[in-house]
This record gives sequence, C-alpha cells and structure tokens, in this order.
Amino acid sequence: MNLILMGLPGAGKGTQAEYIVESYGLPHISTGDMFRAAIKEETDLGKKAKSYLDAGELVPDDVTIGIVKERLDKEDCQKGFLLDGFPRTTAQAEALEDILTATHRKIDATLYINVDKSKLLERLTGRRVCKQCGATYHVVFNPPEVEGVCDKCGGELYQREDDSEKTVNARLEVNEKQQEPLLNFYRNRGSLYEIDGNRNIDDVFKSIEAILGDLQK
Ligand SMILES: [Zn+2]
Repeated sequence: MNLILMGLPGAGKGTQAEYIVESYGLPHISTGDMFRAAIKEETDLGKKAKSYLDAGELVPDDVTIGIVKERLDKEDCQKGFLLDGFPRTTAQAEALEDILTATHRKIDATLYINVDKSKLLERLTGRRVCKQCGATYHVVFNPPEVEGVCDKCGGELYQREDDSEKTVNARLEVNEKQQEPLLNFYRNRGSLYEIDGNRNIDDVFKSIEAILGDLQK
C-alpha cells in the first residue's frame, strides 16, 4: 500500500504514523528524515539540499522531488510506503504521480486526519514550560499537581511565545491554506479518506485500520 498521511499540526499525525508503520510494516518517509539521510550519504542531491539549508534558504522543488524519487526507488519501498510531510504543493503532488506512474505504482490512499480548529488550539496552546528546569507540561493532557508550579523543582511554569494562541492560530492558517489544494487534488483522484481526528488516538487508528483493511481486500 502506498499511503500519504495528512493533517494540520496537532492532529496527531506522528502517533498515527507510528501505529501504521508498526502494524503494516511500511517504511515511514518524512521529508526531514529523507533530507538528513541524503545529506549524510552525501549524494549529489543531498549536497545540493545542504547548500540551500546551510544558506537558510528553502530547498527548491526539483531537488526535493529528486530526493523523494531516490527514496521511493529503494528496495524497501517496493511493497509500499507511508509518506508524511510530502507532497506540500500540487506541483509536488503531480511530480509524485509521475514518479509513481513511471514505475507502475500509484497512491492508494491519502489519509487525512481532520481535527476541529478549537481542538487543535487546545492541544497546541496548552504547553507550559518550567522557567528553572525546562520540564514541560500540558494544562489538559499532562497537568502539574499544582497549577503553574513545576512538580520536579517548584519552578514557575510559563507559556512560550510559540505556543501562544496568536502564534498558533497564524501557523494553523498558513498550513490550512497550503493543505487545501492538496486535499482537493487527492479528492479529485478519488484517493482521499477523511478521518475524524477529534476522537482519542485508538479510535482514530481503528478508522485507519478499517480503511486499510478495505484497500487490502
Ligand atoms: Zn522545574
């Protein structure tokens, strides 16, 4: 099965990716991992990517797509893969389609974990960090025993600027705008599966298992 995992920050993609990889034995292909591997192996494309990253610039599409192609052509991807964080644009989605078509493959399912904005905000703005020891908490999912006080050292907990509602909201909006055309792309291809991600981790994974079970029939 050739799969893509999609969802906004806070949708729980990381956990579901782990579950899918464990249950179905697919290689997990995230853009970050791919870049790191190509740079470490010092492939031509890895060297190119590094020069952009070192300069603090975005890696251009042709380099990114080249790295994806090299990764998907490897042996461990021939029986399937889980793409995570790629494609990010419809141009990349089209390039991915070309890569797969050339080797008689296609995307079987794009799993989109859909979570309400309010829920994402709750998840992403709840983090609190200890001023003294750096321990992290979450006001809902991992609260300290005493509100605002670190369990470990008694230090004061604060909310980082990155976790503020304003910053998180802006980040979600950027991601949402980026995601929309991709969702449409895969919806038009008939491979988009929307999963209600407002539920707990196990229920979300059960939905994914049901979809993948049908695909394997
Ligand atoms: Zn502390």
